[in-house]
Amino acid sequence: MHYNINWFENRVKLTPHEIAIIDSDTNDSWTYEQLQYRVTTIVNYFHMNDVRKGDRVAILALNHISYFDFFFAAMKVGAIFVPLNWRLSETELEYMIQDADPKIIGVAPSFAGKINALAINASLITISHNQYINHLQTKQITVNTILNEEDPLVMIYTGGTTGKPKGVILSHRSILWNAFNTIISWNLSSDDTTLTCLPMSHTGGLNVYTLPLLLIGGKIVIASEFHAEKAVRDLLKYKCTVVLFVPTMYHMIIQTNVFKQSSFPDMKVFVTGGAPCPLNIYKEFSKKGLKFKEGYGLTEAGPNNFYIDSSVVGSKLGSVGKPMLFNDIKIINEHGKTASINEVGELLIRGNHAFEYYWKKQEETKKTIVDGWIHTGDLAKKDQDGYVYIVGRKKDMIITGGENVYPLEIEQWLEAHPNIDEAAVIGMPDEKWGEVVTAFVVLINEMTEAELEAYCNQKLTRYKVPKKFFIIKELPKTSIGKINKVSLRKIEV
Ligand code: ATP
Repeated sequence: MHYNINWFENRVKLTPHEIAIIDSDTNDSWTYEQLQYRVTTIVNYFHMNDVRKGDRVAILALNHISYFDFFFAAMKVGAIFVPLNWRLSETELEYMIQDADPKIIGVAPSFAGKINALAINASLITISHNQYINHLQTKQITVNTILNEEDPLVMIYTGGTTGKPKGVILSHRSILWNAFNTIISWNLSSDDTTLTCLPMSHTGGLNVYTLPLLLIGGKIVIASEFHAEKAVRDLLKYKCTVVLFVPTMYHMIIQTNVFKQSSFPDMKVFVTGGAPCPLNIYKEFSKKGLKFKEGYGLTEAGPNNFYIDSSVVGSKLGSVGKPMLFNDIKIINEHGKTASINEVGELLIRGNHAFEYYWKKQEETKKTIVDGWIHTGDLAKKDQDGYVYIVGRKKDMIITGGENVYPLEIEQWLEAHPNIDEAAVIGMPDEKWGEVVTAFVVLINEMTEAELEAYCNQKLTRYKVPKKFFIIKELPKTSIGKINKVSLRKIEV
C-alpha cells in the first residue's frame, strides 16, 4: 500500500499557523509553516551536498530548533537522522561518528573545537543561531525519494549504561507507531504543550512527547539544557500540560522553592521514566494533588510501552501500568516459560514501534530480537490485575549464596530513610558468597554503617541486607542522569 509517509508535510497543511516550537531560552517561536520553510532550506542544502536515501546526517548541539530542521529534512530525502550526545568525550564521539559515518554534521559553535579535533570525514555546517537558515539557498527543488515504512529514519545511540553505545535504527514505522501508541494511551491532543529539556539526542527527549505531539499538532517548548528552577518556571510560563523528566531531574525539581510554591493548574500529568523512580518523589507530587506517573521504555522499543490510569497510581504504587494498545509483552522466567503472577522474569516486547536493527551489529541484533520479540534485558513482574512492575536490569541482579537479590528493593528501602539522599546497590565479587550485596549511599544527615545496617534489618530479609556500606559524596551518573553502575563498580572507596 502506498501513502505519503512524510506526515510532517500533511501536518503543515492541517495547522499551518499554529505554533509548533518555542525556544524557551530566546522566546523565539515557529509556526508549522515557518518550520516547514526551514526544513525546505535544509532539504536544499542536503541536495546540494548530494545526500541520498540511506545517508546519515548528524547533529551535535544542545536542544535547538535545528534538530527539527534536520529531522524533517531527513524524513523528506530518506536520510537517517543521527543526533549525537554532546556530553560524550572526544574519544567516544569519534567512535560514534566513525561508526555512523555521516555525510553532514550540523555543529553548534560551542562544539566546533571538540569536533575539529576528531578524525572524521563528514562536511560540517555551523548552526550558529536561529537565522543560520537564511544564509542557505532557498530555491525550490523537487525531491522524488520513494519511502517505505521500514526505511530507517533515525539512529539513536543507546545511553551506554551497560557497555559501548549501540546505534539503534528506528524506521518511519517505529516512529509513527510509537506516536500512535502515545497519543491514544496518553490521550494527547493539539491543545497539549510539553517542555523538552531532556537531550534530544536521547530517545526520551526526541520520542516520548516531542514527536508524538508534533504529529497531533501540539506545541513543543525546547530548553537547551535542564536547570531545575528554570524548568519549573518554563512549565508555568508556557502553560505546559504534559512533561517527562528522569528521576534525577525530579529529585532536583522537588527541592526548588518555585516547585514548592506552585500549583501547576495547566499540568495534566508529570511523567517519569528512564530509570527506577524513588517512591518519595511520588509522595511529593501526591501531597500537592498533582498527577504523577511512571513510564518505562528503551531506545529499542518506542520508547513508550505502558500506560497507567491515574485512578490506580496510589494503589499500584511503582507500577508502570499495562501495555499500550499496540504493544505486546511477555514475561519469561529463567526456564523460558511465561512467568506466573508476581514471578520475576525477563520482559519481552513486540510491536510496530520496535526498532529494526543495531547499526552494523548483526550478532547483537540477533541476540536482542528473537522470533520477533525484543529481549529488553530488564526484569519485571505482573500482579493479579495485570499491572506490570519493573524490577531492574537482568545484568544488575545479584546472586548471593544462591539467592536472587533485586537491587531496586533495597535501594527503595534505603531512599525511604529521611537521612538518605540517594542509594545504589550492586553485587561485588566474593569468594564465599559469589557476590555480596553492597550499598553506596549519599547522606543528607550523618549515619554510621552500623545504623544503616540496623535500618536495613528492620525490613529486609537477612541475605538482602548489604554486607558492605560505602558512604560517598555523589553517585556517578550517565549523560542523561541515570545512576551509572558500571562506574560505581570502579569507584575506589
Ligand atoms: P545501554 O542500553 O547502552 O546500556 P541505556 O540502557 O541507558 O543504555 P536507554 O534506552 O536510554 O539505554 O534506557 C533503557 C533502559 O532504562 C531500560 O532498559 C531500563 O533498564 C531502564 N528504564 C527505563 N524506564 C525505567 C523504569 N520506569 N524503571 C526502571 N528502569 C527503567
